[in-house]
Amino acid sequence: MSKQQRYFVTGGAGFIGSHLVENLLARGAAVAVLDDLSSGRLENLAGVADHPSLQIHVGGLDDEERLDALTGAADTVVHLAAAVGVERVVREPLRTMESNLFGFERVLDAAARHSRRVLVASSSEVYGKGGKSPFSEDDDVVLGATTKGRWSYAATKMVGEFLTLAHRRQSGLEGVVCRFFNTIGPRQSDQYGMVAPRFVRQALAGKPLTVYGDGSQSRCFCDVRDVVEAVALLAETPEAAGLVVNVGSDREISILELAEMVLRLTGSGSTIERVPYEDAYEPGFEDIVRRVPDTARIRNLIGWQPRRTLEQTLQAIIADERRKMKLPSPAREGAWAAAGD
Ligand code: UDP
Repeated sequence: MSKQQRYFVTGGAGFIGSHLVENLLARGAAVAVLDDLSSGRLENLAGVADHPSLQIHVGGLDDEERLDALTGAADTVVHLAAAVGVERVVREPLRTMESNLFGFERVLDAAARHSRRVLVASSSEVYGKGGKSPFSEDDDVVLGATTKGRWSYAATKMVGEFLTLAHRRQSGLEGVVCRFFNTIGPRQSDQYGMVAPRFVRQALAGKPLTVYGDGSQSRCFCDVRDVVEAVALLAETPEAAGLVVNVGSDREISILELAEMVLRLTGSGSTIERVPYEDAYEPGFEDIVRRVPDTARIRNLIGWQPRRTLEQTLQAIIADERRKMKLPSPAREGAWAAAGD
């Protein structure tokens, strides 16, 4: 039998993190989680909390001793801990920059000290508002002015990418940058502005669905369970070291169409309300009109592509939100059919 792989996952109680932990445990790996529970929740790990190969540590990345020990005890580090969500970034830019920059640097330093492979979470925000579609990993990035809060998040993620690649060059660190595109699924909080859980909750509560701008902006949504499968595969792929890799779906949908799909799948009688961007975020807010990944690199590298359709993912979110809102489960038929898996 081959040796049990040991993973250290920062942000492991978060939305993507908890799904990754489940995936890794199901592969037979041992997993140590470090999470400060600022946006993660222990409840996200309830399904695996008693697993003999899981350790959960509550704390921040500023505890350097613990960070060092957990890194040294692992074969691979996956760094997901970060401040997320455009609304939160606009609201709390200092906290976002602090955790995304200093925490990131500490994790990389620890991985370099112990010569551990490290996968780091970046974001499609890094592409900024470049007009090109789809976005390929080596494309130019086009960020807006520093006076516009949104772009601080992209800038921190860019610095994280530069640091990872610099460590690769200078210390041979096996770093992999995962540029996540819009990732959705059960357990995602609607608190930080993410559109899918928010529309589902609004629809289930009979409230208007808040479409920002005219709703013609588009995104590609990928199921979190597919995303973490990609991360697990990348972690096992030595050729990924030193690369930036887009991780996402290339099925494009406008936000207005997404709202309509949520109404259809929930059977809700809610209306759609258009909200000007400046009311939703801040004056002068710039949205990204289209965001589509070029997925050639990840396909060639690990043969991965998403398995679940957007409809299946939305059904899973609807089931999850119904449970959280303590709504009775609908009959398993017609528009109410339960999620595929
Ligand atoms: N959005 C919206 N209504 C909401 C929340 C978000 O119309 O209640 C829009 C948002 O302006 C963006 C898209 O949905 O155009 C995706 O937003 P999200 O914050 O989920 O991800 P982003 O792609 O902005 O990182």
